[in-house]
Amino acid sequence: MRITRLTAVFLAVLALTLSACVHKTPPSSQNLTVHFIDVGQGDAILLDLGTTEVLIDGGEKNTGVEDYIKPYVDGPLDVMVATHFHADHIGGLINVLARYKIDNIWLNGENATTATFKTFMNAVNAEGANVHQAERGGTIRAGNLTFVILNPGLPPATDPNNNSIVLNLRYGDTDFLFTGDAENITESRMLIQSIVPIPDIDILKVGHHGSMTASSPTFLDLIKPKAAVYSAGAGNTYGHPHRQTIINLSKIGAKIYGTDVHGTVVFSTDGTGYTIKTKKQAPVIR
Ligand SMILES: [Zn+2]
Repeated sequence: MRITRLTAVFLAVLALTLSACVHKTPPSSQNLTVHFIDVGQGDAILLDLGTTEVLIDGGEKNTGVEDYIKPYVDGPLDVMVATHFHADHIGGLINVLARYKIDNIWLNGENATTATFKTFMNAVNAEGANVHQAERGGTIRAGNLTFVILNPGLPPATDPNNNSIVLNLRYGDTDFLFTGDAENITESRMLIQSIVPIPDIDILKVGHHGSMTASSPTFLDLIKPKAAVYSAGAGNTYGHPHRQTIINLSKIGAKIYGTDVHGTVVFSTDGTGYTIKTKKQAPVIR
């Protein structure tokens, strides 16, 4: 679906007008840390606020996410989110399910016939967690954190990537957007169909590993990310991130980080600003 410039302006005005309605987590005395974990070609994101931990995806099988999160998880893992059923997102969650007690698991409701999905669902069903299905307009709560669900919506998309769970988190005045592998078609649908407006975004998890099929200039122009992180494996065969996506992000003024270049990237925020630490020293990507 094409968004005309006039429609884009209208949506931007609508988003600004309604932005006061967006769920806002009041900042506490503790910092929220958000870890974009280097899992090679895949996604894995840990959020930690005091004794509350949320894991969004776990990379491929045996990439060590269960070890990485160990120092941060106090008691049970509060929330696990599987954005969609592809192995580079749910494979690593199988070991996490085996090692940790998990209170709540959020799925996008789509089924697959792959061996990885079957193993994952067997582990989910054996976990004894509360299992939820994400739907556009709903919320995911974890301690003092509230995520607004922007995708999947109805009708479901034909491509599993576009049924990814997409989440907006506002911590104080710092906004995150976690996109899974959502692509251009989902970006358009979220803007047009969302009952919840997408505010300006401070930190964007770039859609679909920085593929050229995500991060359209129209979408970026509306959400205006200040920082953008893509997750991709060094030398991956998919060509991620695509050069045009880096150009699109640069044009909007986003500072770009990639797990292939910077290793694990960690944001820490008190709700008024944020700091960034990267495992590997490297300049921002241009
Ligand atoms: Zn993926």
